[in-house]
Amino acid sequence: MEDYKILIIEDEKQMSMFVEMELTHEGYKVATAYDGSSGLEMTEENDYDLILLDIMLPGLNGIEVCRRIRQFSRVPIIMLTAKSDIPDRVLGLDVGANDYLVKPFAIEELLARIRVHQRNKTDMNKLDYIKVKDVVMDNRTHQVWRNGREIELTKKEYDLLERMLINKNVVLTREQLIESVWGFDYEGDTNVVDVYVRYLRSKIDDKFEDKLVTTVRGVGYVIKGD
Ligand code: CA
Repeated sequence: MEDYKILIIEDEKQMSMFVEMELTHEGYKVATAYDGSSGLEMTEENDYDLILLDIMLPGLNGIEVCRRIRQFSRVPIIMLTAKSDIPDRVLGLDVGANDYLVKPFAIEELLARIRVHQRNKTDMNKLDYIKVKDVVMDNRTHQVWRNGREIELTKKEYDLLERMLINKNVVLTREQLIESVWGFDYEGDTNVVDVYVRYLRSKIDDKFEDKLVTTVRGVGYVIKGD
């Protein structure tokens, strides 16, 4: 296995030592930070594949750390919350976290979540720009243009478009899109994909002659490009 580097930002030493030990045992390369500022600093200086970020941290809290990391990196972030504190959880996802786990969690659960992000690992974390035909996506500022005109997208529409652009010329099934955009534990209807593709088309395709998103009947969707 290629090195997969995980940073744990967690002030409870017993907890972080336990997680570090388990992850190391699984073959991951693990680094730890015990407060928000040093975690942020380490993220700026190193290239991690995934970050486990506690919300309640001394000094700079996890929400703030997440917000600042998102200004320069798309690294997957799993938030760890002490209790089922809904506002914190929502806030975490709101500032760009990919996932969250409520403590205490079973290590198997954490490993399962990590594997999902590992499967999704592509160069997308490092790509600043994606360009397919006349569509340009700037991952640093989360802006999208088509034919030079900026297109305003919601987060889900953006994620959906990004997934399809990265996998251009590959037909993605509804299930694949659900897993990478909504998360593997999404339990709703897969029709949600069709609904969001419709939203996306209304913004990115309706005013243009050359349609970007193609429906492949009975399979899913594809964006074709050079
Ligand atoms: Ca804590």
